[in-house]
Order: sequence, then C-alpha cells, then structure tokens
Amino acid sequence: PSHHGWDGNGAAVAPTPMPKRLDGKVAIVTGGARGIGEAIVRVFVKHGARVVIADIDDAVGEALASALGPQVSFVRCDVSVEEDVRRAVDWALSRHGGRLDVYCNNAGVLGRQTRAAKSILSFDAGEFDRVLRVNALGTALGMKHAALAMAPRRAGSIVSVASVAGVLGGLGPHAYTASKHAIVGLTKNAACELGAHGIRVNCVSPFGVATPMLINAWRQGHDDAAAGDDDLDIDIDIDIAVPSDEEVEKMEEVVRGFATLKGATLRPRDIAEAVLFLASDESRYISGHNLVVDGGVTTSRNLIG
Ligand code: NAD
Repeated sequence: PSHHGWDGNGAAVAPTPMPKRLDGKVAIVTGGARGIGEAIVRVFVKHGARVVIADIDDAVGEALASALGPQVSFVRCDVSVEEDVRRAVDWALSRHGGRLDVYCNNAGVLGRQTRAAKSILSFDAGEFDRVLRVNALGTALGMKHAALAMAPRRAGSIVSVASVAGVLGGLGPHAYTASKHAIVGLTKNAACELGAHGIRVNCVSPFGVATPMLINAWRQGHDDAAAGDDDLDIDIDIDIAVPSDEEVEKMEEVVRGFATLKGATLRPRDIAEAVLFLASDESRYISGHNLVVDGGVTTSRNLIG
C-alpha cells in the first residue's frame, strides 16, 4: 500500500480498527457540564483524552466528572472572567504534567428570547454586553490562555463552537448573532497568528441541537406568545430545567424540517464528532476553518423559504 491510503490498483486499503484519536492528550472543554459540551467530553474520553470540564455549574460538572472516571476532572470557570480561565488552564497543566493539547471553547449563552429583547429597536445594552462577554470575550480569553500554554510545546488545537448564527443572519437575537460571527472572525485571526507556533485554530458551527439551551429558548418563546407579553423577564440561562424526552423529540422534529439532508436527526454527538476531528491530528493541516454541521441548512433557502 502507498502512503496515500490506496493500493497500487486504486482500490481503498482495508480500514484498520479505529484507533483512539486523542490518546494521551489533555483537553479542556468549557461549558462541558451539559448539552453539546457534555457530548464533546464523552467523545474525547472515549478517544483516550484526559479531560478537564470547565463550567459554572459545579454540581452538574462535578457529577459528570466523577461518573466518567479519574481521567476527567472539573474546575469551576466562568469563561468571561480572565482569572477563571487562567486558573482552569493552570489546573490542567499542573494535573497533567505541564501538557495541554486541546482547548474547546464551547460555553455559550443565547440571551433573552422575548420579542422586545430580540429587536434591534428595543434590545437592552446590558444584556447585549453580557452575551458578548461570555460568547466572544470568553472565546478570546480561552484562545489567549490556551495558546500561552501550548506555544512552548509548539503544538495544540483550539476548537470553538460557533453557530450557523455565526454565518447567516436572522437566526438569533442580535447579541447572539454578533457574538457567533465574532467567534468565526476570532478563529480566522488567531489561526493567522498562532500558526507560527504550531497551533491550529478552528471552529464548528452547529444548526439546532435539542439541548437545554435550545429547549429553554423554545419554551420561553411559547410562553411569550401565549402571554402576549413582550416584557417577560426570564433569564433562560439560569432556568436550565432538564428537558423532557417529549420536548427533545418535538425540537428535533422542528430542526429536521429545515435540513435538506433527510432521514437523520442532529444530535449533540454529531457536533462532538466534528470537534473531535478538528482536535485530533487527523486534521493537522486544517486551520482557520469553520466546519458547519447543519444537514445542509446553510446551503439551502429552506430557512428563509
Ligand atoms: P447549554 O445551555 O445546554 O449548555 C451550556 C453549558 O455552558 C452549561 O453547562 C452552562 O453551565 C455552561 N456555561 C454557561 N455560561 C458559562 C460561562 N460563563 N462559563 C462557563 N460555562 C458556562 O447549551 P448548548 O446548546 O449545549 O450550547 C453549547 C454551545 O453550542 C454554545 O456555545 C452554543 O451557543 C452553541 N450552539 C448551540 C446550538 C443549539 O442548537 N443547541 C446551536 C448552535 C450553537
């Protein structure tokens, strides 16, 4: 077999059993306590990584870490606070022999979902600032401290979770859309700078995944419409009730309706697999890329339709 992975006759070489793609690597996953972040943590662990969950939810994050075994730990970290981010990176380095291979900026907030909160004519400046601080500043701080830790070893992969709202307009509140476009931009900029240090920087942009974030937003939208009230003051990021199976199924059905790819349902695991690819050495020549995981939504006019 040639090094191209094809034999002399052009036939594919029989695949070998899938190796652990992050064997021996150390990863930090922000917002790893639940939702997409939890799926990323689980896939990373399955592929042999030692993982630090960095989240603001101590109870859920610690429970997940202890359920997954000694290779997983939890550190409390609000990604919008630089000292917390620095502490999370220091924790990973001191626990794992000075090594950090992968940093996943997954933590994010959607912001308020009332019609008033979502309009450019009436949005609240404080709320805008809060969403940008977590999603955009939090990601930039993650890049900064991850890169500082990775640069001495001249290797590392930073993968951020943006959104299709970082590619298209009209999909979320203005602050959320601005923050997700910011992540795509930061990814390109940081890739330009950090390539010289052997560090790759990419992002993944999911369409709707039935996580607590999306279901709480959906619930709030329904309550808002039912009450005819534009000024409901619900902070959906604090109201993180666990969604029922029925709510998850309904949400998945809504998402399936938009996708051009039929017959499949977008699950947290699908996002995690894309993050895994960008985190692993299999993507060693990919940097500055935004990998959209959306069942074809952004290539179609179905959303606007
Ligand atoms: P989620 O609300 O279900 O989970 C988010 C996790 O992040 C929670 O564990 C929460 O405690 C944590 N978190 C929130 N603020 C934090 C902070 N300041 N510091 C540290 N941790 C914090 O959300 P999710 O749907 O799993 O979203 C994960 C990421 O995926 C987000 O960046 C989100 O914008 C993005 N995303 C989600 C969807 C979707 O449809 N669910 C679509 C596109 C992009």
